Amino acid sequence: MEISFDSFLHNEEDPPSKGDSADVPLPAVSSIEGNNVRTLRPKKLPFTFSEQTASFYRKHFPYSTPHDWCDWHWQIKNRITTLSVLERIVDLRDDERSALQCDIKGLPFSVTPYYMSLVAADNSDSSLRKTVIPRIDERRISEGEEIDPLSEESDSPLPGIIHRYPDRVLFLVTEFCSVFCRYCTRSRMVTEKKTISKRQWENGIEYIRNHPEIRDVLISGGDPLTLPTEKLDWLLGKLREIKHVEIIRIGTKVPAVLPQRITNGLVAKLKKHHPLWISVHFTHPDEFTEEAAEACRRLANAGIPLGSQTVLLKEVNDSVDVMKPLVHSLLKNRVKPYYLYQCDPIVGSSHFRTKVSKGIEIIESLRGHTSGYAVFNYVIDAPGGGGKIPLLPEYFKGRDEKGNIILRNYEGNIFSYPDF
Ligand code: SF4
Repeated sequence: MEISFDSFLHNEEDPPSKGDSADVPLPAVSSIEGNNVRTLRPKKLPFTFSEQTASFYRKHFPYSTPHDWCDWHWQIKNRITTLSVLERIVDLRDDERSALQCDIKGLPFSVTPYYMSLVAADNSDSSLRKTVIPRIDERRISEGEEIDPLSEESDSPLPGIIHRYPDRVLFLVTEFCSVFCRYCTRSRMVTEKKTISKRQWENGIEYIRNHPEIRDVLISGGDPLTLPTEKLDWLLGKLREIKHVEIIRIGTKVPAVLPQRITNGLVAKLKKHHPLWISVHFTHPDEFTEEAAEACRRLANAGIPLGSQTVLLKEVNDSVDVMKPLVHSLLKNRVKPYYLYQCDPIVGSSHFRTKVSKGIEIIESLRGHTSGYAVFNYVIDAPGGGGKIPLLPEYFKGRDEKGNIILRNYEGNIFSYPDF
């Protein structure tokens, strides 16, 4: 049976307009009635609505209400997906326009109104803009790039299951995302189609049930938090029934691009399924608005440990000046900087990839210079399916004649340690 994503939306039992009010001052909003413009001060909204995003809302969505803006269904239905709408919001660069006019089928273009409010606030070379608005560079295929660089398909015993490491499994439960990141490792499969086979879910659950060595299930996609609450609750409940599944993890970018989705109703369902961990995907400190902070706060208050899986991206976050505020923003919002990924060589990604030496330089600038909790594990997910390989600055300098190991600290000073 095919499950229509749109029907999920209409059947949603967790309307964010019920019982999800955020205890924050609300921005005044202009309403146009005939020729009169008046200012509304709504009493109660289902989610934080910051002045930063409200000014964008007033300019570009004057015929919607603040409640619409705070409703994640509305955000999904009103995604910006076409050149004609986009160019009414931002002045496009030539290479962006060419990419959007190009006939070659590639990763779809889609940005939520909320996230577009952050993109539009910046100038034409802004960091966030590069991550979500296509450039003609992504049509260029460079040496070493592949559609499936991690060879996930060869570790897939059945559709939706990637079983690379013996004790854990990746369960791809949707192909849909609210925003498509231009550097997405799974750009080969993410889609606008908004359909998923229920049979595929059931087969995946059955596979996990039949493999007692699996103790850790990572639910990913696409973005699993774009699924309706009751479907997610059902899936998590089925996995929780399997005795050998010790932990469940969810990978999502929703707190950064669609924070309104983190309703109190969703959180109440998620926390039924502990131990549950969430890997969020923050890329830049500018993503930490009041809305994103509220989404992280709700998840953390539900006892869900949060870690960020961040991709190192050229001209986006490949400098200490960006990375340091990013890791500090993550910690302030109770998110552990978890993995910093070297950008995977997917097709058309050369304009995003940095040298590995840049990543090592960033880690070296953090280690010892800020809280240990703030330092990412920098990894390359090895092409061909080799798994994550950690990359570290060179702190081990060898041994002296007595067998002591020689170490370099973060300031470049040399020390010996009696390792015998
Ligand atoms: S949210 Fe994740 S799966 Fe979706 S486009 Fe971005 S990186 Fe890819």
